Amino acid sequence: MTTTEQTSTATPISQESAGGLLHIDLAALASNWRTLRNAAGGAETAAVVKADAYGTGIEQAVPALAQAGCRTFFVAHLSEAVRVRAVAPGATIYVLNGLFPGTSPAYLRHGLRPVLGSFEEIEEWAAFCRAEGWRHAAAIHVDTGMNRLGLTVSQGLTLRDRAELKDFETALLMSHFVSAEETGNPINLRQIEAFKAVRETLPGIPASLANSSGIFLEEKPHFDLVRPGYALYGGNPVPDRENPMRPVVGLEARIVQLRWVEEDETVGYNARWLALGRRRIATLSIGYADGYPRSASARGKSGEELLAGQVLVAGRPCPFAGNVSMDLITVDLTDIPENDVKRGDTVTMIGGSLTIDEVGRRAGTIGYEILTNLGRRYARTYHGRQG
Ligand SMILES: *Cc1c(COP(=O)(O)O)cnc(C)c1O
Repeated sequence: MTTTEQTSTATPISQESAGGLLHIDLAALASNWRTLRNAAGGAETAAVVKADAYGTGIEQAVPALAQAGCRTFFVAHLSEAVRVRAVAPGATIYVLNGLFPGTSPAYLRHGLRPVLGSFEEIEEWAAFCRAEGWRHAAAIHVDTGMNRLGLTVSQGLTLRDRAELKDFETALLMSHFVSAEETGNPINLRQIEAFKAVRETLPGIPASLANSSGIFLEEKPHFDLVRPGYALYGGNPVPDRENPMRPVVGLEARIVQLRWVEEDETVGYNARWLALGRRRIATLSIGYADGYPRSASARGKSGEELLAGQVLVAGRPCPFAGNVSMDLITVDLTDIPENDVKRGDTVTMIGGSLTIDEVGRRAGTIGYEILTNLGRRYARTYHGRQG
């Protein structure tokens, strides 16, 4: 027999026993939802809570968003939707990754809506609804440029002629932007136009196109419902402007050891960082096994400007030194007065100037990946819970 267990139900990790301290601000999350709702004009503002609410925890994030007024949630998987349903009994929940064969009864059991992305899926849902004798709700996804999920635009334009559409309620027609964060990219306009063309053939069906960045596009492609994810969790939806969102996630690491490294010594695996003079190195109790990307490793010489990770010590940025290990990260604190730091102190890994976008950039990735990899070994503290 095999059993499966969810990390989220495991015993919580205490502050004293953890190497990393993760802070999640639920009041900021709710405030970000309201900011997005105000930016979305009259459109309904849903919340994308896939990947454990971008690493922040479905069981905590969803009630906070529901309390702020959010009524519609999107996840990627059926398993995630079941977790959302457990904490949001009255919510509308869509599963983005489509309908796997034979899973329709599970959707009905939990009151979930599949996002149908092919004629096969539409046929399967329609047949299920006919057998059940009820027009259960689903969304239809039209692919306007990603070439990943959904009907093609030309298939979308023939939708209204399909008999199966009578068998279920099409509660939402949706598509997804390729690069809405690039405001000047002409693909945005092409996608908006293609989406409008399909929508015009299906009057009366609510439509949704915008993710976080899409909400802020000049064209205001809000339609009837917007689907922000990243911006809810503090990511900047407008990278060429100041971030209108509040930070939601903070991460601190504990200093395990402090040492002086002599000139010409190296630090870390594979000796990829060289001390050009005497340097003071702090070893932190976080590593790539905590989801902190190894690609943030600092390979070079002390004092060099490297595109690599940083930490904040009393608000001052200090660079990584050497490769990120599985459970440890070494940083160069030579510029911090010796008495200002000691064993057991915490330093900031995410927070202040080290936003999730900046941490992502320094690791050669995007803030989305930083959030969704947030480790399972951290002591998690939720702040700003209402009621
Ligand atoms: C993930 C996702 C979103 C949310 O995108 P963000 O950029 O995080 O706001 C919206 N729609 C779909 C289809 C998605 O897959």
